[in-house]
Amino acid sequence: MGNCHNLSNQCLINKAEDENIDLVWHRYEKMLPLCGFGEKGICCRICMKGPCRIDPFGNGPQEGICGANADTIVARNLVRMIAAGTAAHSSHGKEIAKTLMQVGKKTSKSYAIKDSEKLRAIAKKMNISIEGKDIYQIAEQVAYESLKDYSRIEEEPCTWLSNSITPPRLEKLEGLGVALNNIESSVADIMSRTHLGTDADPINLLLAGMRCAIGDYTGMQISTNLSDVLFGTPEPVISEANLGVIKKDAVNIAVHGHNPLLSEIIVDVVDEMQQEARAAGATAGINIVGVCCTGNEVLLRRGIPMASNYLSQELTILTGALEAMVVDVQCIMPSLAKIASCYHTKLFTTMPEAKIPGADHFELHDENAVENARKIVKQSIEAYKRRDPNKILIPEEKSQIIAGFSTESITNLLSKIDSEKPLRPLIDNIVNGNIRGVVLFAGCNNVKITQDYNFVHMAKKLLENNILILATGCGAGAFAKNSLMNSEATNKYAGESLKAVLTMLGKEAGLDAPLPPIFHMGSCVDNSRAVDLAVNLANELNIDLYQLPVVASAPEVMSEKAIAIGTWAAGLGMPVHIGLMPPVGGSPLVAEVLTSGLKDIVDGYFIVEKDPLEAASKIIHVIEEKRAALNVTSTLEEEK
Ligand code: SF4
Ligand code: SF4
Repeated sequence: MGNCHNLSNQCLINKAEDENIDLVWHRYEKMLPLCGFGEKGICCRICMKGPCRIDPFGNGPQEGICGANADTIVARNLVRMIAAGTAAHSSHGKEIAKTLMQVGKKTSKSYAIKDSEKLRAIAKKMNISIEGKDIYQIAEQVAYESLKDYSRIEEEPCTWLSNSITPPRLEKLEGLGVALNNIESSVADIMSRTHLGTDADPINLLLAGMRCAIGDYTGMQISTNLSDVLFGTPEPVISEANLGVIKKDAVNIAVHGHNPLLSEIIVDVVDEMQQEARAAGATAGINIVGVCCTGNEVLLRRGIPMASNYLSQELTILTGALEAMVVDVQCIMPSLAKIASCYHTKLFTTMPEAKIPGADHFELHDENAVENARKIVKQSIEAYKRRDPNKILIPEEKSQIIAGFSTESITNLLSKIDSEKPLRPLIDNIVNGNIRGVVLFAGCNNVKITQDYNFVHMAKKLLENNILILATGCGAGAFAKNSLMNSEATNKYAGESLKAVLTMLGKEAGLDAPLPPIFHMGSCVDNSRAVDLAVNLANELNIDLYQLPVVASAPEVMSEKAIAIGTWAAGLGMPVHIGLMPPVGGSPLVAEVLTSGLKDIVDGYFIVEKDPLEAASKIIHVIEEKRAALNVTSTLEEEK
């Protein structure tokens, strides 16, 4: 065995079948038909009188044993999904804030401040006086004020919410009672009100869900911004993506999950251990590759190549050339342990809240992070010696990518054109129609859809219609793997006016080529970067977010976190396209509120469309509506 060439990863899926290994696609096939009650959201397991199921055809029970109807059950289930998503994102932010606190107190053994300029900018944004304080004192206070967003008793909105959205949006959210004061209590509130016999009003439940989702957004702001302080604010970086980044002659270590606390340290210790790996026979040394959003974090900040996004994570092990996968939290398939046991691959878990039977657990704490990172790399080098050359099959595909588009790096680039008003060139190009609008692609992969297909096909149509794309999370992974994040993609897919703008920006950036047509802004918590950019644009124009020709899209929505993200994006005023119906089909009332009624309340709403080209058409239509409402004239022809 050796290398294979197959764009769809089919060679590795075939290999799994030859080796009698089940992958996510096989397990999905075995699960069919999926439970229709669950898909429509009309089953309830909240108390032990049930589980109860509502008959969607009207012939059987229309109420649970306690009397809850489909609307109540669907709304309760949905807001519990939002609470889980919010808990996941915001606990990530809390870990980062606690680490910054340790750094500020000078008790951290493993971390330091990498971007003190950003730290000062954050302090200013949070109204923290920095006069006469050193960076440690500032860090401690920024961490303290950020952690207050998780525990505030007073009824004022969270600091990271009120300082990161437009004034009219804050006013609107406050008016609706969804400008939360405390992230963790918003999650607890959902669990409390969805307990048996509490909130039965679907609208009241959905409003609480919105409040909690705004907490998800707040936690993301904390995660992204404080991670930048600790690990550096991303700048454009050239790297590669897809399984072809795994090297045959290297000790390959994949970092997977979401939290950069351990992966950053692993990347740091690898340099000192390269010689050890070569001595073990790995002529190419140690090769770190990324999976999912931990992969995005180290890609943006360190240029580490990206091997896979969510759905194909198992295939990294199937290559037979992965010595170790190091995971932290979220989106880690438990199947990895079983698949790793069929190979020489070591699976390491690192977080106390995320253990997997069959994995080796090296718990991450500040005081032992470096030591444990070294142990992990050492064991990976040992694993290399146990490789079976007959089992190696590495797909050749890999694409060059330009990643690292933080709000700051975009603004810095634009300031080369207009140093006084850096956003002006972007605004001018949106107004004159060279850039018709902006779409933020986020969210996951879902096994119900051919991996990456919808992302890629939607993007090509939007780019052709001169719509600029921002991307995060596994959406960004899809574009990175499919050659849509490099200069060549701009020449190939962007409409003429978008291409001209990106070529001009590429020159300003010192490239001899255009910028990519899709800006990789980071992991899924980094959706806050895209919001920051949009908020800056809206503030510059003195308008609210919903007025901008900006749409969010999650064509392969899957996780509870994605539901939380979509909900806050709508709450901030954005139309949000999703490629799959969430489990709300059992309540026409809830479905109607999400796709229509919400617009009257928060301006944002959901568009559900599975077909990628149809979805792109709907988004273009929404963008044109927004442009018309802003009275800007598009100089472009109709949709292509
Ligand atoms: S609990 Fe709900 S989703 Fe699960 S099997 Fe029962 S009815 Fe289906
Ligand atoms: S809370 Fe009501 S609907 Fe849910 S399981 Fe209990 S009795 Fe059934």
